[in-house]
Amino acid sequence: MPAHHEARRRRLATALSEAELDAVLVTHLLNVRYLSGFTGSAGALLVFAGGDAVIATDRRYEIQVVQESPDVEAIISREENDVLTQRARERGAARLGFEDLHISVADWSKLSELEASVDAQWHPVLDRLDGLRRVKDEVEIKALRRACQISNDALEAVYTRIQPGVTELDVARWIDDALRDGTPEGPGFDTIVAAGEWGAVPHHQPSGYVIAAGDFVTIDFGAKVDGYHADMARTLLVGGEPNEWQKTLYDLVQTAQAAGLDALSPTASPQEVDRAARQPIEDAGMGEYFSHGLGHGVGLQIHEAPFLGASSTDKLDVGVPVTVEPGIYVPGQGGVRIEDTVVVHEDHVERLTTFTRDLLTVG
Ligand code: ZN
Ligand code: ZN
Repeated sequence: MPAHHEARRRRLATALSEAELDAVLVTHLLNVRYLSGFTGSAGALLVFAGGDAVIATDRRYEIQVVQESPDVEAIISREENDVLTQRARERGAARLGFEDLHISVADWSKLSELEASVDAQWHPVLDRLDGLRRVKDEVEIKALRRACQISNDALEAVYTRIQPGVTELDVARWIDDALRDGTPEGPGFDTIVAAGEWGAVPHHQPSGYVIAAGDFVTIDFGAKVDGYHADMARTLLVGGEPNEWQKTLYDLVQTAQAAGLDALSPTASPQEVDRAARQPIEDAGMGEYFSHGLGHGVGLQIHEAPFLGASSTDKLDVGVPVTVEPGIYVPGQGGVRIEDTVVVHEDHVERLTTFTRDLLTVG
């Protein structure tokens, strides 16, 4: 494991040199984890332009930090930013980067005070650190594959239990239990179950609504493995045959998703991919009901770069996992969403969530 963290710190070191920084103070805990392996709830990491690093955390994590980050010197202190800034100055580092996207006003005010007392200058690193996480290494893709497999298995285990008379909350609980059976981290985010008219609310929280025959039920969920998030969604039909509007919506979303997946490649722009999926829905006059972007990157965060949307300026690449999740939401009627997590490779797109995309009738 440490070899991967060291490789990531070397990539950061290159970015630091390009920005003419001597070191960077990493305060965002996800970035601390990404660069060192440390998973505690308090701590900061100082990475030098040479790629070596020092971590600071408090006494609660004295044992854990040595286990998780054996190749990084650990300092035990509650004043993480202070001790690491002092350490930077002892090493002669004067041009210091800080995570302007992830720091509170209070912490920034303390760092500013240090600037004068230790004679260093702070420089914002902008999105350089988060940008490092866009392309995933093999260890990360392996964790995502596993998280997606567990998610897929959870839906396979649960979907036949959905029938008229059960509630959205029942379905959410079954999914969450199945995810916990698969991974100690369980669900990576709050499971969405939206049935009947609630299907028109993309992020509806599961309620006591009793599912009836003829309802569409959208389930959006994902397991977490080693901090990495799976994300998938399916819409199922409960009981009987789909009526006309249900058939139309489902076919359109399925067509849109296939178009989005086809458009994905390492060199495609996220705007183009979004456009490819949106076109068939707009052509059918339902563009206004597809009210969100086509997808997003997944990793240590459930939503992270690159974002697939009409105004996205992000980039795809080899080794970038993204979701492809078109949806149509008609107020007063219901909705359909089909979402998969995939990885963009050099010459193909690998689907990590493989549950059927054809309309399934249950109950
Ligand atoms: Zn989702
Ligand atoms: Zn998603």
